[in-house]
Amino acid sequence: MKTSIPFNKPFLTGNELDYIRQAVESGKISGNGAFTQKCQRLLEERYGFRKVLLTTSCTDALEMAAMLAGIGPGDEVIVPSFTFVSTALAFVRQGAKIVFADSRADHPNLDLDRLEARITPRTKMLVVVHYAGVACDMDRAMALAEKHGLLVAEDAAQAIDATYRGRPLGGIGHFGCFSFHETKNIITGEGGALIVNDDRFLRRAEILWEKGTNRAEFFRGEVNKYGWVDVGSSFLPSEIIAAFLFAQLEHLEAIQARRKALWNAYAERLGDLARQGRFQLHDLPAYASNNAHMFYLVCASLEERSALIAHLKKHGILAVFHYLSLHKSPYYAPLYDGPELPNADRFADGLLRLPMYYDLEIAQIDEICGRIREFYS
Ligand SMILES: *Cc1c(COP(=O)(O)O)cnc(C)c1O
Repeated sequence: MKTSIPFNKPFLTGNELDYIRQAVESGKISGNGAFTQKCQRLLEERYGFRKVLLTTSCTDALEMAAMLAGIGPGDEVIVPSFTFVSTALAFVRQGAKIVFADSRADHPNLDLDRLEARITPRTKMLVVVHYAGVACDMDRAMALAEKHGLLVAEDAAQAIDATYRGRPLGGIGHFGCFSFHETKNIITGEGGALIVNDDRFLRRAEILWEKGTNRAEFFRGEVNKYGWVDVGSSFLPSEIIAAFLFAQLEHLEAIQARRKALWNAYAERLGDLARQGRFQLHDLPAYASNNAHMFYLVCASLEERSALIAHLKKHGILAVFHYLSLHKSPYYAPLYDGPELPNADRFADGLLRLPMYYDLEIAQIDEICGRIREFYS
C-alpha cells in the first residue's frame, strides 16, 4: 500500500526562494554575510541569547562546544544513551571517554537522580538532551555541574522555542546547540547554531568557527590583518543556507502555533487510551513548555510496537521508532564498561513517533488515531 500520510514533510513558508535570490544577487554567498547576521540577531533578540553562531549542523555546534571546552583524551563526558549519535560523536572525536547515562522512567531525558554516582575526577562535561523539545531539569543539572566543576552543553537540537521555567532552552548551559535539519520545527535542509552563553568562550568561538582565524575581528575593524591563530574548522554555513533559514525564522510563531494545535489534537484523541494504560504518553513536567516538536507514544514491548507500525503502514500511515541505545551501538558497545541502562533500552524498544508536520490536517490525525484505536480494540 502506498503511503498517504508520511512521517515528515518539510514546510516552506514561501519566502525561501526570494531570499536565496537576494543572497545570490547581492554577489556574496559565502558565510557570515547579511542573512547570517540577520538570523543570528533574530535569535539573540527573540531569546536573549548571549551569542549565536550559525553552523552547518547541530553536529557542528556540538563539535565546537567540545573543542571550546578543551575536551581531550582521558576526559570523561556524560551523555544520555537514548539520543542521536552526534551528541556523543562530537566528544568522541576529541578523544573523550563517553559515560552513557540512563533516561528517567517517565521520559527519555537524563535521570538526574542517579547521575552523580557516574561522576569521577576525570569528568569534564555534562551533555543534556531536551528530548522532544521537553526541558531537562536545568536547575538541578547546573547545580550538579557547579558542584563538580563541569561544563554543560545543551543538545537543544529539537528544542527551538521551548523553555525551562520560562527560560529559553539553549540559553542555560555554557553552550546550547540547535539543529535546523529538515526533520526539525525550523529548517534549512542541513543547518544548526551554537549558542555561547559564557563570555569566557566568546572570542575563541568565532575563531574556531572561521577555520582557526581571527577573520571575524578583522571584518569588524578590530584588527588590521587576520591570520591563523588557533585550531578550528569550517563550521559556518553559506549565505544560501542562511537566506532559507531567515524565511523560516520569520514565520516561527505561525509554525509553532500550527504544530501545537496538531499536538493537542493528538493528545485529545489518545488521552483516554493512555489513561487506560494501553501505552504511555509524555507528561510535561511543570517546569517545561511544549514546543510540539514530536508526538510519541511508548508501547509496552518491541513486539507490540512492530505490530502497530505494521498496522499503520498497511493503512498508508508512516510512524517511526527512534534511537537505539548508543551504549549498545556497534561502534560503542565494545568500549562500554558501565551499568545496564534499562530505561534507555525501554524507549529504544517501545517509543513510536507519529506523523507531525505543518501541513498535516486534523482529518488525518482523526484517521491516524482511529487506526491506533482499532489496533488496541
Ligand atoms: C537532529 C539531532 C541532532 C543532529 O542534528 P544535525 O543538525 O543533523 O547535526 C543531534 N541531536 C539530537 C538530539 C537531534 O535530534
